[in-house]
Amino acid sequence: MDTTPVRRDLPAGRFAPSPSGDLHVGNLRTALLAWLFARHTDRRFLLRMEDLDRTAVGADHRQIDDLHAVGIDWDPPVTYQTARLAVYDGVVERLTAQDRTFPCFCTRREILDAPSAPHAPPGAYPGTCANLTAAQREERLASGRPPAIRIRSDVTEFSVVDLLHGEYTGAVDDFVIRRNDGTPAYNLAVVVDDGAFGIDQVVRGDDLLSSAPRQAYLATLLDYAPPTYAHVPMVVNADGVRLSKRDGAVTLSDLAAACVSVVDVCSMIYASLGLGEAGEHITSAEALRRFDPRRLPTRPWVFERQ
Ligand code: GLU
Repeated sequence: MDTTPVRRDLPAGRFAPSPSGDLHVGNLRTALLAWLFARHTDRRFLLRMEDLDRTAVGADHRQIDDLHAVGIDWDPPVTYQTARLAVYDGVVERLTAQDRTFPCFCTRREILDAPSAPHAPPGAYPGTCANLTAAQREERLASGRPPAIRIRSDVTEFSVVDLLHGEYTGAVDDFVIRRNDGTPAYNLAVVVDDGAFGIDQVVRGDDLLSSAPRQAYLATLLDYAPPTYAHVPMVVNADGVRLSKRDGAVTLSDLAAACVSVVDVCSMIYASLGLGEAGEHITSAEALRRFDPRRLPTRPWVFERQ
């Protein structure tokens, strides 16, 4: 086991995959971008396994091997969210003691069926359980349905700064921070971990851009400065749909079986980022030397079937 102490005082970037299966070229491209952004700015680079749900046996180790194979290095140790449950619980307790949370007994159906609050953005939590009396709360607890815990938000929107998207403002509602099965919600765990490990630069797929305002708002409640974001374009298939395992050979092992080596995959990724010519083989160190965030393509990369 690695015993290197974590330097939490130095700024850091990170890659935070969910170990639910093998990484595909889209995930690897995002990981390389996160690494390039961090190392280009002399930050530490951390790897965090978001294993609170959807895990597949051994996927974490295969992801680690694949990240090494494409030339990414990180500052140890690798963090696993399942090892930090007590930390998330402590944060929920702290927010609850500050009257910043409330238990929510709603089912998904009830939330969809409830009339939305005036001026609330579409899909926002309608506020059903926000102001229950103690008696109503007791009654619902007695029904046996365990509550989720929601943040009592005092804003309806929040702005973040994104290196690719500029200032981005998005909706913030009373979002869930602990699910009703007791699992810390993704939004909570991300913010607690980014804050606790000194992560001040978050580079990830732009499918998560709309989550950033909630997360940045929660960071401020926890006295963390919101990070700088870079939400990078996704990789899509020939139909323009986000790449997935259904698109054939998309993981390093599938591609190797189709006679596309790791070096070839890296070469395709670097060419897609404007860091190399098609077919040019460069190391991650050379890509880092050439990296200029201002010249990144902003359109999705179309990954053709190999
Ligand atoms: N674990 C998330 C994913 O794999 C990423 C979370 C994040 O980068 O904030 O989609």
